[in-house]
Amino acid sequence: MKLLLHTCCAPCSVYCIKSLREEGIEPTLYWYNPNIHPYAEYKARRDCLKEYAKLVGVELIIEDAYGLDEFVCNVADKLTTRCEDYCYPKRLRKAMEYAKQNGFDTVSTTLLYSIYQKHEYIEELMYGLANEIGLDFLYRDFREGWQEGQDTARAIGLYMQKYCGCVFSEEESGVGRELNRKLKKIGISPTNANVRKVIEESKTGNILIPTQLDAAIAKAFPKNQKRDKIKAEHLHINIAF
Ligand code: SF4
Repeated sequence: MKLLLHTCCAPCSVYCIKSLREEGIEPTLYWYNPNIHPYAEYKARRDCLKEYAKLVGVELIIEDAYGLDEFVCNVADKLTTRCEDYCYPKRLRKAMEYAKQNGFDTVSTTLLYSIYQKHEYIEELMYGLANEIGLDFLYRDFREGWQEGQDTARAIGLYMQKYCGCVFSEEESGVGRELNRKLKKIGISPTNANVRKVIEESKTGNILIPTQLDAAIAKAFPKNQKRDKIKAEHLHINIAF
């Protein structure tokens, strides 16, 4: 088997490479991720993967393509479905095409490691693309090694990103952290089912707007008087800036 492993970042590759090698499979990593923005973040993840590939002696192919403009133009009218409608197919099709043109017979992806990705969707997409292009898709549920991979990545000091990749995920992640801080302050567990409701309430169109969090919290927790304190604090912050 000659396996091309589409690789989104070094931390996600740790467990995938390890478990594949334990099976006797030597992957070749393939970097093609025009979904990562801004450029400083793209460079940090790419360069970290270069270093890690060297460290563990695995071959790495870099398809350098920083693509903020193209990405935004292509997802602007489908922000809620951007992962399925553009981001996954764009990257995984490219990996498949590269594999086909360069003598690989099998393809897989480190996206199957992340507990935050749409795993079943990716699996189905990969089977479909492989069938269309004439390759084998190696399915593995790498999520079973999530904690192990994360612990190893931290222990060896790999760059650990705070969001999925695109500018929209950066915003969602930032808003999520802000929301968690606020909910903790008023004694509500961030795992509370209402958190989802707050996030839904704080959307304008499909984008989360930080300044709408207070109104969303007030709506989701109408009887919680402490929200007024948060609102006052938030107002103060807005005035201060
Ligand atoms: S959230 Fe992640 S998978 Fe979805 S579009 Fe953004 S970068 Fe791609």
